[in-house]
Amino acid sequence: MDFLATCKRSISCLLLIPCLCAPSVMANDEMISPAAVTGSANSNVPTAGPARPKNIIIMIGDGMGPAYTTAYRYYNDNPETEEIEQTVFDRLLVGMSSTYPASVSGYVTDSAASATALATGFKSYNGAISVDVEKRPLTTLMEKAKALGLATGVAVTSQVNHATPAAFLAHNESRSNYIDIAQAYLDTDADVILGGGQQYFPPSLLAQFTGKGYQHLSEFSKLDAVTSPKVLGLFADVQLPWAINDKQGHKLSKMTQKAIDLLSQNQQGFVLLVEGSLIDWAGHSNDIATAMGEMDEFAAAVEVVEQFVRQSKDTLVVITADHNTGGLSVGANDKYEWNPAVLHNVQASPDEIATRAIAEPQWQTVIATLIGFKPSEAEYATLENARMQGNEPLTVALRKLIDERSNTGWTSGGHTAVDVQVFSSGPGARLFGGHQDNIDIANKVFSLLPESTAKP
Ligand SMILES: [Zn+2]
Repeated sequence: MDFLATCKRSISCLLLIPCLCAPSVMANDEMISPAAVTGSANSNVPTAGPARPKNIIIMIGDGMGPAYTTAYRYYNDNPETEEIEQTVFDRLLVGMSSTYPASVSGYVTDSAASATALATGFKSYNGAISVDVEKRPLTTLMEKAKALGLATGVAVTSQVNHATPAAFLAHNESRSNYIDIAQAYLDTDADVILGGGQQYFPPSLLAQFTGKGYQHLSEFSKLDAVTSPKVLGLFADVQLPWAINDKQGHKLSKMTQKAIDLLSQNQQGFVLLVEGSLIDWAGHSNDIATAMGEMDEFAAAVEVVEQFVRQSKDTLVVITADHNTGGLSVGANDKYEWNPAVLHNVQASPDEIATRAIAEPQWQTVIATLIGFKPSEAEYATLENARMQGNEPLTVALRKLIDERSNTGWTSGGHTAVDVQVFSSGPGARLFGGHQDNIDIANKVFSLLPESTAKP
């Protein structure tokens, strides 16, 4: 913490160029720490090619602690084959990161403090949107990128002004100030803003965006036809639909691909933030079936980026989680088993199943069809009792039933302080190997930005 205290007083650190307080920051590829060497074992980390990337893509699985990528591996496993198939996360893993916020908030971070760390290289308090503990604004990666002439964008499955994208684009003393944050986006000059959150952008604000040259979209099907920035795509009132209820949607993959296409038009390069925002929301609800749907959605977006990185050779991707959510346990109740096959048969999110089961007199059939198995007499009795109490109790009962059948455990409805994984590929990827802190991730990314392409 002494290092942090010193760092906060340093003007070069506030400007973040170069930060002498972060000895782990190394733009020079010859200066590789032992930890970074560990990371180079990953076959996705190039041994040749440019030392600095032209484009940087940061991907955040909100709440995606190590149990989520583990669960996703077994969820994704083909039981017809002997081996356990690798996931995109297995292919790209290079290191680990601690996530603790500024000491005033203890050891367990929220998304705002963690996104602030990842976007600025500074610890702050839970709830902070790229302001320090004194509520002074901190330079963000997106601001620095803009100053260097790079294009910037965000593509997320939450509202676009939710904590994570907000910390990359704006400054606010509280993540709850959604209206202020949406308004602040006007001044970011971001080229691509895609996600949900229509309700925070009233017509008067949208008119200001279009006045600045933004194309505003609210229908997802229209995204395909967009051929040039700037674009503000708000495809839901708040968050996008759960992936499990929108199986043909692949909205995050499509938004990611479109963002890459549009931002690539800038000859000087770009910085893009992609967030699988709703992994966290499913984790808060202790909803394993919905969480695996969101993991699948995020993994598909990571695969889109993996492919782009492989082809372009001048793009760095860094993928991490902001924290772990729910204390997910892959196996529980003293039993040595986890049954992801149960989850594949669940046809809709438990809240959606509950809504339909409450509307339908033949609710037992509705549940058996949508949950993918026929509950026992005792289980039906529990569900009937919950159904009489309403939508939320029935939703919770359905989640518990799915947990029991799949043998999934949870320890919290909130976040936990366990370290998260770091995945990377492309020029500079080796810097992210071994253990680091979340502010180190940001400082390494800052160190990889181009040095002298600033517009006059
Ligand atoms: Zn959360």
